[in-house]
Amino acid sequence: MCGIIAITGSVGSAYEVFFGLMNLQHRGQDGAGIMTVDGKNPPGFHIQKGSGLIDTVFSERSFQALKGKAALGHSRYATVGRNDPNLLQPFLDSESGIGLGHNGNIVNFYALRDKWLATEDSRNREIVSDSQLILRLLSDHLKESKEVSSATVFAALAKLMDDLVGSYSVVCLTKDGDLFGFRDPHGIRPLAMGSKVNDAGETLYALASETVALRFLGFDNIEELDAGEAVYITHDGIVTRQTIRKESSSPCMFEWVYFARVESEFAGQSVYKARFRLGLLLAEHLKKCNITADVVVPVPETSRASAIAIAEAMGIPFRELLIKNRYVNRTFILDDQQTRQEAIRRKLFPIMDEIKGQRCLIVDDSIVRGNTAKQLVRLIRQAGATEITLVSTCPPINSPCYYGIDFPSPDELIAYNRTEEQIAEELGADRVVFQTIEGLKQALAQKSLCTGCLTGEYPTSVSEGVAFEKQRLLDRKDKSDKVKEPSC
Ligand code: SF4
Repeated sequence: MCGIIAITGSVGSAYEVFFGLMNLQHRGQDGAGIMTVDGKNPPGFHIQKGSGLIDTVFSERSFQALKGKAALGHSRYATVGRNDPNLLQPFLDSESGIGLGHNGNIVNFYALRDKWLATEDSRNREIVSDSQLILRLLSDHLKESKEVSSATVFAALAKLMDDLVGSYSVVCLTKDGDLFGFRDPHGIRPLAMGSKVNDAGETLYALASETVALRFLGFDNIEELDAGEAVYITHDGIVTRQTIRKESSSPCMFEWVYFARVESEFAGQSVYKARFRLGLLLAEHLKKCNITADVVVPVPETSRASAIAIAEAMGIPFRELLIKNRYVNRTFILDDQQTRQEAIRRKLFPIMDEIKGQRCLIVDDSIVRGNTAKQLVRLIRQAGATEITLVSTCPPINSPCYYGIDFPSPDELIAYNRTEEQIAEELGADRVVFQTIEGLKQALAQKSLCTGCLTGEYPTSVSEGVAFEKQRLLDRKDKSDKVKEPSC
């Protein structure tokens, strides 16, 4: 998963993109990059990228170099190739004069890359990631056009979308300072646009992964791009939109459950409200099963809204008894089992006195590998809880994700081939309670959703994703990072 943002029309575009990225940091913490383009003749692109958190990559001096009224930013979350600086985005194709940032994962990357490598154009070039492949194919499709414009870009995107299988929300900058963005035909990953008028009366436009980043920067008139839709915004503010190719809309359910910021909306639904409804539905289920507790405790941060809803609906006190050390990175994004377990221990700590003698209903957004849950249950038991019910706002995750979220091979998933009782035993809890798939659908209020990791049924073909998955597991074993095909 990654965060993307692009702005055109702003004198301080790089600075704005920086603050936009700060609001997308949760989508990727491996590295970040900002690219700007100034209106000189010949036009100049300026790029700075680096590994680590956004505020460690950029300094005040960065913004002296990142000149121009159009900027594009990217925060990276990698499932493979983690330490390779060559994989940091945005990418620039100097021939076509296009810079690109991508969020998602191309399932048929290997097949497309091999096909491209067999062409004349591939001589002395390499493709190190699916994001680079998107840029390469797009640039190739634009080659026959005399100019880069909304018409030529939309025509090129129609050809590109014929080839790509997978999830992709993409933002691009042209050498003229134009901006364009597009979403895959299923709309798996989010992409929103907004506008605002500056003090000089000029209208500025932006595209970003999440609405929270746009709102933070003062953009309004915020709209999400439809599945398969593209928008082209010229440097002087002419906006053209077109649906390039649409199939059944299938937004990723995990954006609401875990990934997106609670202040954002996705597919027209507030993330906060969706999480609250997930809690209300779980409360109904818990009541039906005669499960009760003395306190409802959220696992910070993402499950808080659901835990409040459960506590209110069940008439049980809500208590924040697991305290997060805010200086430790999200465990989900760390790459190996041992590092992840160590980080969990450092990241969360219980208020021992308050837990002692209590029947605790612990609410987490999801249980993926079970590492966090196991450690938590152990800590809560050590603090003296008399009973632990672990509640997951997400249904059991038992299949891999091929669209950019690091859900591993099934045998690494705690819910794969296990009953709730077996999972509880494995985790050391008295019981575990999962959201149902029907409850999830009701809470997210979507006509259709991607629930591939819950059901094994995906909105696109994923047969070629199995090769990707093998590669990713190899990479995890091989810490020397020889394999470079990443997901974002
Ligand atoms: S498989 Fe799961 S995590 Fe991946 S896009 Fe679909 S719903 Fe989201």
